[in-house]
Amino acid sequence: MQASKAVIPGGVNSPVRAFKSVGGTPRAMMRGQGAWLYDIDGNRYLDFCGSWGPLILGHTDADVVSAVTEQIRRGMTFGTVTELEFNLADLIVSHVDAVEKIRFVSSGTEAVMSAIRVARGFTGRDLILKFDGCYHGHADHLLVKAGSGSATFGQPSSAGVPRAFTGQTAVLPLDDEELLEEFFQQNGDKLAAVIIEGVPANNGLLIQRPEFMIRLQKLTRECGALLILDEVITGFRLGLQGATGHYQLKPDLITFGKVIGGGMPVGAFGGRADVMEKLSPLGPVYQAGTLSGNPVAMTAGLTTLRKLTDGQIYDQLKSKTAAFVDDLQKQLTGLPVQVVSIASIFWICFQPNLPRAADRIESSGIEKFNRIHGHLLDQGLYLPPSGYEVCFVSAAHTEEMLNDAADKITRTIHRSLGDQ
Ligand code: PMP
Repeated sequence: MQASKAVIPGGVNSPVRAFKSVGGTPRAMMRGQGAWLYDIDGNRYLDFCGSWGPLILGHTDADVVSAVTEQIRRGMTFGTVTELEFNLADLIVSHVDAVEKIRFVSSGTEAVMSAIRVARGFTGRDLILKFDGCYHGHADHLLVKAGSGSATFGQPSSAGVPRAFTGQTAVLPLDDEELLEEFFQQNGDKLAAVIIEGVPANNGLLIQRPEFMIRLQKLTRECGALLILDEVITGFRLGLQGATGHYQLKPDLITFGKVIGGGMPVGAFGGRADVMEKLSPLGPVYQAGTLSGNPVAMTAGLTTLRKLTDGQIYDQLKSKTAAFVDDLQKQLTGLPVQVVSIASIFWICFQPNLPRAADRIESSGIEKFNRIHGHLLDQGLYLPPSGYEVCFVSAAHTEEMLNDAADKITRTIHRSLGDQ
């Protein structure tokens, strides 16, 4: 880790991996198998991070590994069209009602960046609206600060982002229809697109009320803007229809990443054919990528999604996650801790009431999580290294593993909160 810091800023290639919030030293991993991660010192951890969401089948699923290995022997990249990208596109289009056409990229950030560009190209408008607490990757125009209360426009949240790049991005709090109405009245005619996470899961798990999502879709449609549902986490995680199925939404565009790549670097954006046909080479909106639709990545995604489309995995994931979360919640009765979940995503929230908006998350609660993280690691549980991050259960987690984890987590929380 020290050696790595000499040549990689902070020793990491993505900041949250540095354990800055939770303290201690990041564990360098060298192998994954099913629900387990193994570090370079020979320690084993039950993995609740799942590489931040892609590993719905767990690590090194035998079918994925064998398909990918075979593909690698045939070639890692061709820079041409392939049958594989058609097969994955066809599978997604046939399962997700809102997607008529889709294009692959190499990350969630690229998917969102491209979806916003095509939405602007299609509508001929510039303004976009996002929500405080939703993360959509690190494209310049999405790194904006939230204000308090009402809409704010374009304060960069990162150094290196010119104000001019964020000036066309408005930010609103989640869970507030009144502010939505007011915003659309004032800005609807200038709005190109609204982007929201299928279920906000980057800043706690802020499950939105269906009424809020439906109102947002209606207002967006009425003003001629496009609704982009960012399903980088929720796509093929909540189920085959992701959050569109959960809320019965029909977004104009959807962004994907994580699960659809089966552990390889893949993102995608898709939706209405008339919008997607604005993309080059058919239309005037430029978008490209040397490794887009990469055959190895497409193979990993295709093998993963084919296993998921048989339907059983989602039911099993849902019931074992619900049982685990119920068990946790029961063992934590009387403490100001909530365990919230949807499908195979869960979040441990150290406050008495569950928040639905980012500004209602108590930072003292996040600190409480951060304080127990190292104790959980020492007991062989790998949870994401920040209290704002959600946890993932995979098909490889067994009931026995989850029961053992629930006992360890609750004992640690009792000890830590009891100490205060
Ligand atoms: N959108 C959402 C909802 C995400 O959760 C993420 C990543 N956590 C991204 C976009 C960006 O994806 P990537 O990290 O692959 O660029």
